[in-house]
Amino acid sequence: MSTDDGFRADWAQKDFYAELGVKKDATAEEVKKAYRRLARANHPDSNPGDTAKHEKFKAVAEAYDVVGDPEKRKKYDEMRSLYGSGGFRGGFGGGGFGGGGAGGPGGINLEDLLRERAGGGGGFGDMFGDLFGAGRRTQQTRRPQKGADIETTATIGFTEAIEGVTVSLRLSSDAPCPTCSGTGGKPGTKPKVCPECEGAGYVVGSAGGAFSINETCPRCGGRQLVYDEACPTCHGSGRGTSARTIQARIPAGVKDGQRIRLRGKGAAGEAGGPAGDLYVDVKVSPHRIFGRKDANLTLDVPVSFDEAALGAEVKIPTLTGAPVTLRLPPGTPNGRTFRVRGKGAPKPDGTTGDLLATVEVQVPAVLDAKAREAVEAYREAMAGKPLRAGLFEGA
Ligand SMILES: [Zn+2]
Ligand SMILES: [Zn+2]
Repeated sequence: MSTDDGFRADWAQKDFYAELGVKKDATAEEVKKAYRRLARANHPDSNPGDTAKHEKFKAVAEAYDVVGDPEKRKKYDEMRSLYGSGGFRGGFGGGGFGGGGAGGPGGINLEDLLRERAGGGGGFGDMFGDLFGAGRRTQQTRRPQKGADIETTATIGFTEAIEGVTVSLRLSSDAPCPTCSGTGGKPGTKPKVCPECEGAGYVVGSAGGAFSINETCPRCGGRQLVYDEACPTCHGSGRGTSARTIQARIPAGVKDGQRIRLRGKGAAGEAGGPAGDLYVDVKVSPHRIFGRKDANLTLDVPVSFDEAALGAEVKIPTLTGAPVTLRLPPGTPNGRTFRVRGKGAPKPDGTTGDLLATVEVQVPAVLDAKAREAVEAYREAMAGKPLRAGLFEGA
C-alpha cells in the first residue's frame, strides 16, 4: 500500500503524534527528543520478553519515520486533516469530508437558521444540533464511518488465562470538549458563520493536476461556525478526552503476548457507522510451579532415587482440578516426561491440552546414618558394573 514517495494509505488511521506523545505543532527537535526517549525506554534489548514494549518500540519507530521527516510529515498532516480522523470524531462538525462536488454549499444563513429554531426551548447544545441538522440538509450528507480502533493492555493471572476471565478495562479516547460540547466557542457567546468557507466547513483546495479536492476549512476546522471568544477549556479546538470502563471477556486458553480483538468495542461510529474494534494485548503472569507451552502445561516433579529405580506412585497437583497420580515404572530415568491428558489449557478447536510432568531425580544433600548404610550397601552391590566404561571406548 505504499507509493514511490513513501506515502501510505494506512497513515490516516494512526495518530503518530499521540504515539510520540508530542503536540501536533511540535518542533522537529521536540519530536526527535520524544522519539529518542521512547525508543530507549522500549528498546527490545533492554526489555527482553516484554511484548507490549516491543510493540510500542515498533509503533514509535513507525511514527518517527513519518513525523521525523518533514516531507512525510507534511503529507501525513494533510491526509489527517482531509479525512478528519485526527482521533476526533465527535458528532459536531468533524471531518468536512462530505458530499462535496456537485450541488455546492451555497452557504448558510445563521439568522434564518436561528429563526427556524424559534419557539423551541432547548439548551445551547440543542440549538446547535438543530442548526447543523439544517445546515446538512442544504449542503452535506455525512457518510457513515466506522469508529476508530482502540488498543489497550491487560495483565491477567496464569489460571485466569487457562479458565478465561472478564476484566475491567479503562479506555480513554478523544471526545468533544465537555465545556463547549465540541463547538470550540466560549459557552454563552454567539457564533457566526465562518467567513473563510461561508459556512461550508471546507474549502476547495488544489491538489495539482486535473482534479481538485475539498479541504477542511482552516479557519473553522470544518465546524462551519466561528466564535469571537474561544472556549477556555479547549482553547477553541473543541477536543477533549473521555474515559470509560468496559467489561471485556478474555477467552479461556489465551497466551502471554496474544492480541485479542473485541469486535465493536472500539470508538463509536459516526453517522450510523459501526463502532471500531478494541484490541487487547494480553500479558499473563507466571505461575509459581506450573509452566506453559502452547496449550500444554508443564510441571517439574521431584522424585527420589529409589522411587525412580523401584517404581512408585506419585501424587501431583493439577492447575484447576483434583490431584492425579503418576505411575512411575521401575527404572524411570531422570528427565522423563509423563503426559496427563486433558489437564492443560483449552485449544481453539475445543479440545484441551495436556499436563506434561517431568521427573527430576533428587540427590539428598545429607544422609543420616541409616540411609548412608543403605547407600553404601547399594554401592557394594553395584561394584563391577562400571557406569562410565563407554566414555573411554572412543577416546
Ligand atoms: Zn470555515
Ligand atoms: Zn471547549
